[in-house]
Amino acid sequence: MDSVRVRFAPSPTGYLHVGGGRTALFNWLYARHHGGTFILRIEDTDRTRSTDEAIEQIFASLRWLGLDWDEVYRQTDRFDRHREVAAELVRRGAAYESEGALWFRVPKEGATTVPDLLAGDVTVQHSELKDLVILRSDGTPIYNFACVVDDHDMGITHVIRGAEHLNNTPKQLLLYQALGWEPPLFAHVPLILGPDRSKLSKRHGAGSVLDYDERGILPEALVNFLARLGWSHGDQEVFSREELVALFDLPGVNTSAAVFDDEKLMWLNHEWLRRLDLDRLGRLLGERIVRRGVADQATVDALGPTKLARAAALLRERGRTLVEMADRARPYLPGDLDLVPEAEALLTAELRPALAEVARRVEGLSQPSAAEFESVLQGVARDLGISIKALAPAVRVAVSGTRVGPGLYDLLSVIGPEIVVSRLRGAARKEER
Ligand code: GLU
Repeated sequence: MDSVRVRFAPSPTGYLHVGGGRTALFNWLYARHHGGTFILRIEDTDRTRSTDEAIEQIFASLRWLGLDWDEVYRQTDRFDRHREVAAELVRRGAAYESEGALWFRVPKEGATTVPDLLAGDVTVQHSELKDLVILRSDGTPIYNFACVVDDHDMGITHVIRGAEHLNNTPKQLLLYQALGWEPPLFAHVPLILGPDRSKLSKRHGAGSVLDYDERGILPEALVNFLARLGWSHGDQEVFSREELVALFDLPGVNTSAAVFDDEKLMWLNHEWLRRLDLDRLGRLLGERIVRRGVADQATVDALGPTKLARAAALLRERGRTLVEMADRARPYLPGDLDLVPEAEALLTAELRPALAEVARRVEGLSQPSAAEFESVLQGVARDLGISIKALAPAVRVAVSGTRVGPGLYDLLSVIGPEIVVSRLRGAARKEER
């Protein structure tokens, strides 16, 4: 087989959505799996609806997903070539001018069959088709025509795209035939539906690719999720990029519609948060803390990568997104905390001296481990004759502002002795008022 050349050909008329992201991913995976070439072609021939902002969004979305392209084209740069081929169709008697536009003549008799690699043979009677415009009166090409010229010129071997384009394909095949060109192979990927089996939309939680970044989804998770929207490998759910490249091929693509499930995406994201290398997760957490306004860059820098990574290790136990993790990161950062009201109630006057005593004993330690924190708390409880069941929640609230969180002693050791001591003293003083 000739070396694989595939393309992702978005129209830059809006954001890149889930469906477009999946089409891009399937093409990229197909190219990488077969050691082929992944081409990005911006189909901006409709100049009234295409915007530079949308083009930038497409680039940014693909970069965020990690889908690197080997070649990139803008269709508007190829207008001369489109006009040249249109003129050739006129010479061959396959196209004619009417009302300033150029029309392709669809044969009246016979039928065209698309031998689709996924949908099987799809046959259309020519009597069902009308002649189609290939060049508008302003000389700009229409999608079906520009697509054929470009797929041919770019040596595309496989057209992998959404099933919504299946009814364009017979017209495109007729154009190939009229030009005496060999068509590529076609694989139309089944639609994506909402959980209620209606057309996928925002109300199903489906947004643009970059919306997922905003929600704190990892690119690893979205890539995994998009791959599973219409492709499967046994009953495996979690796939790394490398595994996908190794395993992805057209026979694994399902032939019925895929169903979008936002809960599954959240589950996958949590899986990926737990698998991520902690240095990287710490970096992502730091960025997100700043982006969410939880703290400023200087505070994050002062904390440093090691502490960020340790905080990330605890926060990812419960946080399903980077947003949830960042929004719960305040206790790990220096500075005062706002205590949740039901937490304040735990800091009774009775416990005040105990908090001060814990602070005193912690102060003498350097880099106490979780186990050392535990023995300090046990010791204070014993010596002051109070229950650890009363002391531990009070310490947690004083140090983290809330009653929920990871294991207390891990939490204390990650927050570190300086902050722990200062918050315990603050809480002890508060009770004096
Ligand atoms: N520009 C078309 C779209 O965005 C591309 C269709 C194709 O892949 O041929 O839907």
